[in-house]
Amino acid sequence: MNDYSHKRGAGDKYGSAEKKGRDLQGDGFHHQARKRFGQNFLHDQNIIQRIVRAIHPTDADHMVEIGPGQGALTRHLLATCGRLDAVELDRDLATYLEQTLGIDPRFSLHQGDVLKFDFSTLSDTPGSLRIVGNLPYNISTPCMFHLLNFSKFIKDMTFMLQLEVVQRLAALPGDEHYGRLGIMMQYHCEVEHLFDVPATAFVPQPKVCSAIVRLTPHKNPPVKVQDVRCLQDVVRVAFTQRRKTLKNSLRTLISEAELSKLPIDLGLRPENLTLAEYAMISDTIYQPDR
Ligand code: SAM
Repeated sequence: MNDYSHKRGAGDKYGSAEKKGRDLQGDGFHHQARKRFGQNFLHDQNIIQRIVRAIHPTDADHMVEIGPGQGALTRHLLATCGRLDAVELDRDLATYLEQTLGIDPRFSLHQGDVLKFDFSTLSDTPGSLRIVGNLPYNISTPCMFHLLNFSKFIKDMTFMLQLEVVQRLAALPGDEHYGRLGIMMQYHCEVEHLFDVPATAFVPQPKVCSAIVRLTPHKNPPVKVQDVRCLQDVVRVAFTQRRKTLKNSLRTLISEAELSKLPIDLGLRPENLTLAEYAMISDTIYQPDR
């Protein structure tokens, strides 16, 4: 037995079950938002237009939308881009989108989990994919890191995320939001916090504010390490004890003697170190044969 909570309008073209959920697109499709899929649908037309303007899709662009939902952004992107692939987990929404947009040969719907999606199947041209998504908040961080595996093929990524996550992604040393997420994302991408979005822009309304962020994979990384996993370890260990000074918080990874050879103030706290300084520590510790 399936447990779909989606109910469609009586007598309309999408089914004959009882009406539940608002008809957001005005086409008779009623959909009860599913919490476990992080469904908060955009319905504020001003915000939708602002996001589309920020992305500015052209007919040369190959867009990929994650979680198109009921197509609030999809329709606008498709109006001007060259091709659009969409990855949607919810089978009912996938069917609805296929029925309403599938007639356009530039549109392809992939029903499934974005965390398992192989983006390299969409393009073999470096820097060609433009990723977009009002991401389900429960998987936003793993989703961004999954995408980084395909960064070679990605031109840019524009996401709606919880405001706090965007603040963490964009934070610089000394900011209260500075930490692992920002350091690791800034290693891979330029991060731009574009604008904030109030909870009233969604149905149903989330409990928190949201924001739009643009992530652009570095063509020429400003900082390069020998091994990214080693950098990850250094940053993780440092921020486990973010109130301690560096020499204490990194004690398990590197001796004070070794640390003191680097041009870094050992009295600093993890929240004050730049990405370049973390990279220096990482390369000092890294042993390729271990
Ligand atoms: N883009 C639509 C909008 O702005 O109105 C919907 C955004 S809603 C916040 C997130 C969307 O992601 C939903 O359509 C949900 O079904 C879909 N989704 C949730 N988990 C997913 C996953 N693992 N893979 C792909 N899509 C997923």
